[in-house]
Amino acid sequence: MKIASSSEMSLIELLHELGITAEAVLVSIDGKLIPETATIHEGQEVEIIYYKHVPPLSSPQEPRGHWKRAEYSSTCANCQSAPVIYLAYANQHLCPKHFKELFEKRVKRSIREYNMLTKGDRVGVALSGGKDSYALLHALSAVKESLPFEMVALTVDEGIPGYRDKAIQNAKKRCKELEIQQHVYTFREEHGKTIAEIAKEGKENLCSYCGVLRRKILNSKARELGMDKVAIGHNLDDVAQTAMLNLIRNEPLRFARFNEPLIENEKLIPRIRPLRDIREKEVAAYAFLHGHEYDSGCCCPHATSALRWSVRHELNSLEDQYPGTKSKIASSFNTLQAIVKDSVKDKKLKLKECSECGEPSSDEVCMGCKMLSDL
Ligand SMILES: [Zn+2]
Ligand SMILES: [Zn+2]
Repeated sequence: MKIASSSEMSLIELLHELGITAEAVLVSIDGKLIPETATIHEGQEVEIIYYKHVPPLSSPQEPRGHWKRAEYSSTCANCQSAPVIYLAYANQHLCPKHFKELFEKRVKRSIREYNMLTKGDRVGVALSGGKDSYALLHALSAVKESLPFEMVALTVDEGIPGYRDKAIQNAKKRCKELEIQQHVYTFREEHGKTIAEIAKEGKENLCSYCGVLRRKILNSKARELGMDKVAIGHNLDDVAQTAMLNLIRNEPLRFARFNEPLIENEKLIPRIRPLRDIREKEVAAYAFLHGHEYDSGCCCPHATSALRWSVRHELNSLEDQYPGTKSKIASSFNTLQAIVKDSVKDKKLKLKECSECGEPSSDEVCMGCKMLSDL
């Protein structure tokens, strides 16, 4: 969405007039990211980038939280360059160079803290072509210099015309540029049906079909390729949303198996989330600074998870008022995870092999095969 300012005003005032929360958007002028504390001159055109489906609030509200506290700054906290991002929770303005440095440092820290990688690991990076996976690919390439591991990109084409084809083109281009080997798998070939065809059958919760069937492909292909880990682009917002959803849906056991499966199984390739401590907005900015192109309304046309969408919206609003909320939820999630995991340790949990496809499963037939037979 492009908007020309009618008078000189701060970006915060402009966003406020539009009823948009600061945590939810990035703003650029002529393709260059600007911090939300910037001043917009009369007639200047700014582009507001929604990096996921976040609607403007129905009616403009009083500016709240860190918008009021945000101090204007024309220079980066670490050098004299112009800042492109304002980190409210740290009250810091950063230029592209220092923001990228901080970002990669934090990815490295998470990798160490959660023991995600061992030297020489072979990592399959789930690359959808969206901003999260794109940022993940770039951050891992950067981190690889000091922590040697091998990586290939794994792309799953669910078959969503107009949405996925473009993302897949992007993903291919990136891999070429970064000289990373890429494997592409399609729902059509692996499951016999595209998600668009599944959608036509009027299934509810299409997002869970898509998620389960995509994971099934990622796990089996990563195993076939001899990968030690699958890296996915979940960011701090995803983690905080998942934590809240587990509570809202009364699924406390899911806390226990977020970081790693409850039972080790050689057919199950461990999943790692190197971006788990980084806010979505920063992931979006990092991807943008690496040339990721945004489509306005860049969302899956079949997205149906209304609950996650509401939770996401509420968390953005809370984060605006109380910077640091998302990290605190994610930390509680970690603590709870350890406790729940400990308490189920002695319960006999067995992982079988699905009688249809041979993938690890807690039931006789795995969720993916159940879904497929249901179609
Ligand atoms: Zn700087
Ligand atoms: Zn199965």
